[in-house]
Amino acid sequence: MRTFEYTRADALETAVALLQGDPSAAPLGGGTTLIDLMKCGVADPSRLVDLTWIPGHDAVEADASALRIGALCRMSDVAAHPEVRRRWPAISRALLLGASQQLRNMATIGGNLMQRTRCGYFRDPSFTECNKRDPGSGCAAMHGENRGHAVLGTSEHCIATYPGDLAVALTALDAVVHLLGPDGSRTLPVDAFFLLPGETPQHEHPLRPAELITAVEVPASACAARSSYLKVRDRVSYEFAAASAAVGLEVRPDGCIADARVALGGVATKPWRERDVEAALTGRPASAAVFREAAELAAADARPRRHNAYKVELARRTVERALLTLSATREDEER
Ligand SMILES: Cc1cc2nc3c(=O)[nH]c(=O)nc-3n(C[C@H](O)[C@H](O)[C@H](O)COP(=O)(O)OP(=O)(O)OC[C@H]3O[C@@H](n4cnc5c(N)ncnc54)[C@H](O)[C@@H]3O)c2cc1C
Ligand code: SF4
Repeated sequence: MRTFEYTRADALETAVALLQGDPSAAPLGGGTTLIDLMKCGVADPSRLVDLTWIPGHDAVEADASALRIGALCRMSDVAAHPEVRRRWPAISRALLLGASQQLRNMATIGGNLMQRTRCGYFRDPSFTECNKRDPGSGCAAMHGENRGHAVLGTSEHCIATYPGDLAVALTALDAVVHLLGPDGSRTLPVDAFFLLPGETPQHEHPLRPAELITAVEVPASACAARSSYLKVRDRVSYEFAAASAAVGLEVRPDGCIADARVALGGVATKPWRERDVEAALTGRPASAAVFREAAELAAADARPRRHNAYKVELARRTVERALLTLSATREDEER
């Protein structure tokens, strides 16, 4: 049996102080990732600092310029929020397509952003090779089963896929992550919040010791208001993405695209912004031919391994279908 202490924090500042005083302590949100990892022997914190009893930080606030989501909001509450559904639909959709209703009722937004890879070698300590779990030990996935692994952003040290959905939508929509640590508060663009594995796959975020996520802020924009999230997976529910795309379009009255947002999930080591695809869409007619041509630019630097070459084509088709569906949905609404 693993023993650990459990403490309820009454304020984020208290939680930071508790974490600072005990470097092997970990913050606890809904526990849907952390408790799993403790059970399978991957995480072994000496103390859990429960954030979920802290008052405040669980509100969704929207004004003319931005959406602000407290780190302690539950996934299901954010997904169902009327303003999120209306003005940032990709975020609502990404949340709804993740996990199960029971998990979404438990899981917090802060914990969601910090979820770990589903690489089977990482999650099973009986495999001794895993640089993410045990730096310098090797990577079993490199020569093992890697059908679900990443084709973008990989290194010779790790090819684990970033598994989450929400962060893909946040990346497409230029979200900012708010943090609080012993040295005060700061913000990071969501793209910078996720690190490439490089030579140190054990470092997934540039968080300083005892630093906590306090909120996520997403700017309001025409692209955000006309956005969507498409997730392709082996079964239709309760499954991680084989590939996913968060897309947003601002279309001028003449039918040309004024602004476009595209990010990929399920195929990369972090949420993957596709700026070349966005550039290929911008200024051109919002047509099936343009969507197809632009989508061909997705996953351009892909490095497939033995079992996952299918993800390159799947990523491109997912982008194309997401754009087509988004475009068709709005035309239907305008009729
Ligand atoms: C069966 C199953 C299926 C799933 N399917 C999907 C899916 O399809 N798509 C998807 O996106 N996700 C999926 N998930 C993952 C799920 O979304 C995450 O488990 C959940 O969002 C984590 O939130 P939590 O509050 O429970 O985090 P916790 O488990 O409490 O914490 C996760 C990590 O975040 C840290 N942490 C928590 N809060 C903070 C904070 N405020 N600041 C800094 N660090 C913090 C913890 O220390 C821990 O390391 C699935 C999970 C399960 C178990
Ligand atoms: S892909 Fe990354 S997480 Fe998976 S075994 Fe290799 S080093 Fe570990």
